[in-house]
Amino acid sequence: MKYVFDERQKRHDPKHFFANGTPLPNPEQPERTRLLQKGAKAAGCKHVLTKDFGLGPIAAIHSAEYLAFLENIHTRWQRIDGASDEVIPNIHPMARNVNYPKSAVGQAGYHQADTACPISAGTWESAYWSAQTALTGADLLLEGEKAAYALCRPPGHHAFADMAGGFCFLNNSAIAAEKILRTGRRPAILDIDVHHGNGTQGIFYERKDVLTLSIHADPDRFYPFFWGSGQERGEGEGQGYNFNLPLPRGTGDDHYLVALQTALERIESFGTDVLVVALGLDPYEKDPLKGFSITTAGFARIAGAIKKLDIPTLFVQEGGYLCEELSDNLASFLQGFESTGLEK
Ligand SMILES: [Zn+2]
Repeated sequence: MKYVFDERQKRHDPKHFFANGTPLPNPEQPERTRLLQKGAKAAGCKHVLTKDFGLGPIAAIHSAEYLAFLENIHTRWQRIDGASDEVIPNIHPMARNVNYPKSAVGQAGYHQADTACPISAGTWESAYWSAQTALTGADLLLEGEKAAYALCRPPGHHAFADMAGGFCFLNNSAIAAEKILRTGRRPAILDIDVHHGNGTQGIFYERKDVLTLSIHADPDRFYPFFWGSGQERGEGEGQGYNFNLPLPRGTGDDHYLVALQTALERIESFGTDVLVVALGLDPYEKDPLKGFSITTAGFARIAGAIKKLDIPTLFVQEGGYLCEELSDNLASFLQGFESTGLEK
């Protein structure tokens, strides 16, 4: 299969991250792209260049207010006396329908859910090209490819329509799914990152035209904490079109595959004709953000189960952090997909 990546996605180079109140280096490093490209190449994938589809398909998902914020906030922040090199919020509203302040500090609190999405000089450019990479991947499927891998970085699934969070700024999977939807198809987004895809859920929560599913570590004791329970099934017209499968911390290959089968059956029942997989590699047993115990061989089994759906599939890179096996895990996943035969 082909893989899509643009070097400009490396310009976002976050420094700060807080874990349990302790300042640490940010785990979402540009170096991830080198290891992921190595994995894609090891799986036999051929690189294609990212195309520019402009701001329109991004603005179909994200509010104009938020996009203006993302593009300009770093410059505005630097005008504040004593401001840090990166935009990190220190106050948050209790609700969304509140006063929208003119202050850069106030807007940062409104649009950034946590301290894990610091905005630096290169953030907008990288987020923009990460979204274009997902759109290029979607375009490959629309041109007739059976599968494609979009090496999106920064990742996207924690980004809501008007809010960044958890290393994410633009929701690449949602942007790709919307593009696919607008060609008359019926897309579903299956999120297999170890963290709940709260941004993706939020974007489509009141809609029935895109099915959203997420398999993740139980948020009772894992990021993003406030979203991801099985009771969140969608609202209004969207009721019954969001499907969460929280699993215990430490879940391994066999139990994971049982849950995956349930998700795949729901995808079939929706009449899904194009699948977007929000592909986190952080369910890996030795990932630094450890939540599950998926093995390198387990990723191939997961991909093989998805392949059996036999529908065009776009893989959009989400999490998966620096560890020795990051390349191998991606290679195992992509090879597992390519080598699984269809018995029909
Ligand atoms: Zn994750």
